Amino acid sequence: MSDNSNKALTVLGLGDMGSALARSWVAAGYTVTVWNRSARQAPDAVSIAATAAEAVAANTLVVVCLLDDASVRVTLDGIDLTGRDVVNLTTSTPAEARSLSDWITARGGSFLDGGIMAVPSMIGAADSGAYVFYSGSAQMHKTHADVLAVPAGLTYVGTDAGFAALYDIALLSAMWGMFAGATHAFALTVGENISPVEFAPLMVAYQQAMAGYAYGTAAQLASGDYTEGVESNLAMMSTTNATLRRTAAEQGVSTALLEPFMTLMERRVAEGGGNESTTGVVELLRR
Ligand code: NDP
Repeated sequence: MSDNSNKALTVLGLGDMGSALARSWVAAGYTVTVWNRSARQAPDAVSIAATAAEAVAANTLVVVCLLDDASVRVTLDGIDLTGRDVVNLTTSTPAEARSLSDWITARGGSFLDGGIMAVPSMIGAADSGAYVFYSGSAQMHKTHADVLAVPAGLTYVGTDAGFAALYDIALLSAMWGMFAGATHAFALTVGENISPVEFAPLMVAYQQAMAGYAYGTAAQLASGDYTEGVESNLAMMSTTNATLRRTAAEQGVSTALLEPFMTLMERRVAEGGGNESTTGVVELLRR
């Protein structure tokens, strides 16, 4: 019993993100069949399947949003995927996504992987800026573009099924660095008579002003000249590291979050990269 109409789809997983996705499609007038491993409050107006196999059989388009790659494997294992278009919105590694693609296509399905760049409250919300990196089947991306555009914007990054995960995790990694810096900055100031609420906008504005630094790094990586257009060279920045360490010591704050990056900067200087910006550190990480 398969409903191939464009206005119907299946969602596997009713966690915070799966529920937000299902709700957005219901709100847009889609007929949504859902399945979740354990009993959970389902969004209104969805059809609840008793098993994952029943949910997969209900529609051609099957969106999977579970905890991790292992939960996707265990859920889809043994289910007939012939003719199914599987969109995996579960966060995974590039290699896991490629392997999952092979596993699903070998069983007669098609595969599109996605990396969600949003939190649940942004899903289906107009102008929230939510988008999803997609990679894998170009045909599926084309065929299902309208459906997939309901919860969030689409950014298709190619036929390599691992690329959506790679872009996703690369951006998450960049975000971690930003969170780490903000965490250290709060640790430095919070014990003083400085309001964190008043400090936050200063920090956000400075982080936003500095974010464009990545364009310079990109240009240098592209040209191979890491001294091109350098305003703040690594030798000077390494000297600043010493001031960062002394300030942390004065404030009784650990430099644990900063040490890995500062140590790499100093290593690059020791290897002769003092006239560069931080671009050479990219090379150190890939050694
Ligand atoms: P939740 O923890 O809220 O939900 C996890 C879901 O996975 C539940 O449906 C859970 O089922 C299911 N699950 C866990 N283990 C298994 C298993 N072994 N077999 C079958 N089902 C399993 O997570 P989210 O919904 O927030 O996240 C889902 C995915 O979306 C993750 O990959 C996450 O990285 C990604 N994502 C989430 C974002 C967020 O802000 N929430 C942002 C961007 C991406 P049960 O109810 O039975 O436990």
